Amino acid sequence: MHLSILYRGSLISCNYGCEYCPFAKKQQSARELSQDERELNKFINHIETNQQHSFSILFTPWGEALIHPWYQQGLIRLTNLPNIEKVAIQTNLSCKLNWVENCDKDKLALWATFHPEWVSRDRYLTQCLELHRRNISFSAGVVGFPRHKEEIAALRQELPSDVYLWINAVKKELPNMSRADLDFFAEIDPLFPINTHHYPSRDRSCQAGKSVIAVDGEGNIRRCHFIRQPIGNIYDDNWEDALGDRLCTNETCHCHIGYVHLDYLELDKVYGDRILERIPVGINNNYS
Ligand code: SF4
Ligand code: SF4
Repeated sequence: MHLSILYRGSLISCNYGCEYCPFAKKQQSARELSQDERELNKFINHIETNQQHSFSILFTPWGEALIHPWYQQGLIRLTNLPNIEKVAIQTNLSCKLNWVENCDKDKLALWATFHPEWVSRDRYLTQCLELHRRNISFSAGVVGFPRHKEEIAALRQELPSDVYLWINAVKKELPNMSRADLDFFAEIDPLFPINTHHYPSRDRSCQAGKSVIAVDGEGNIRRCHFIRQPIGNIYDDNWEDALGDRLCTNETCHCHIGYVHLDYLELDKVYGDRILERIPVGINNNYS
């Protein structure tokens, strides 16, 4: 069996201070951070012992994980496991990047978000170019606030043409945006319109809970990050029994890491095998 896992442990802290974010500049105690480290290592050990299955893993931390050595070491360990197909992580790309040399680069991918209110475009771009030079697959992206249009346009100009730049729609701001703003974002990211909807999902078939699951630091399995009810625990014997067909119980799904798994949207045709790192088919950025 191949299974995709969205992992989110106990980390809830970040070195950046984006004004719209609940984790902005939040700090955790040494005890809390060591709990996160223990949880991550337990999870990786479990993946390692489940050699009868293959896995693709996307880390979706609440905060910034890659500034912590246990995440860098964790990605090195995971990408070098034979039963891992892919490891991707959402990051603000503020960390040093030399550790990627110890990963199996064919299995590593980054989902790297630019936060123009918190880091200069130059600094973010330098990091992107370093990833590019080190042959690491990544998508770059920005939250689509019209006030950042100039920075976004400049970034698109400066990034290599084979790096996909996504724009996340700020759903509640969309009704206030001009046609020109919407057209601008769609010109930067042709897939931006896909991200502007709340997709009807109740009673619809979704891969969440079947071929993709969310796992927290205690091992609780949920179908996705948007339905709180656990369906099992990955540390139980026969944890695989929790997987199966289920219809969505939420009215709508509007976040990329959720709706890409809604069967009727057929977004696997758009993203192919790089759905976790958000790189569409046709973008040639694995360089090697
Ligand atoms: S970088 Fe991400 S996690 Fe950190 S404050 Fe900004 S939005 Fe929040
Ligand atoms: S449609 Fe969205 S909310 Fe519903 S199960 Fe799938 S990922 Fe979860």
